[in-house]
Amino acid sequence: MQYIDPYTLLIIAMIISFYAQIKVQSTFKRYSSVRCNKGYTAAQVARYLLDRSGLNDVKIEPVAGNLTDHYDPRDKTLRLSQSVYNSNSVAAVGVAAHETGHAIQHDTGYAPLSIRNSLVPVVNFGSNASWLLIILALITGIQPLLNLGIVLFSAAVLFQLITLPVEFNASNRALGLLESEGILYNDEMDSARKVLSAAAFTYVAAAIISIVQLIRLLSMSRRRSD
Ligand SMILES: [Zn+2]
Repeated sequence: MQYIDPYTLLIIAMIISFYAQIKVQSTFKRYSSVRCNKGYTAAQVARYLLDRSGLNDVKIEPVAGNLTDHYDPRDKTLRLSQSVYNSNSVAAVGVAAHETGHAIQHDTGYAPLSIRNSLVPVVNFGSNASWLLIILALITGIQPLLNLGIVLFSAAVLFQLITLPVEFNASNRALGLLESEGILYNDEMDSARKVLSAAAFTYVAAAIISIVQLIRLLSMSRRRSD
């Protein structure tokens, strides 16, 4: 079997990731200037969809930053970035519906989200500790440190992989709701789909980078144990 040099793989992965970032920024920017026909703001749409899903207890707040929109399951709060919150663009409405999708996942106990949330503490600890162990292993030459670092890093890779179904599912729920509740019209649905697909692609790119990093670490480990 032929192996591609892990460094070449990493460069390819970084190009994909860079492209994904550019794509999400440009797609978001483009559809941020397209006002949706019904004229509801993102915050209004989120409130409406949450209430329609029986989630009256979920709060909605503005949050600083660009593309910082998220749903926090700990305090059941949906946070929309300032450029999204009061916007009635197709992009903003799509993002609001996507975050609503996460709130519904949380409420219905969607398994990949539960697994993802339970991995958060492991990943927070592991992603820092793994590199520390790997660097220590390289300095000291102690192989078990490297292997332990790789095990911890694998948890981070697992986290990014389990994030993929969570993200795709939230977007599917969002598009389903926007359509069934009659919030967006046909051509607007296509635009919202493009925005959410571009956002999902950044998660795919991040997962590819992590997998390539893991391949690099595994090949490093094998070389050293030979
Ligand atoms: Zn999401």
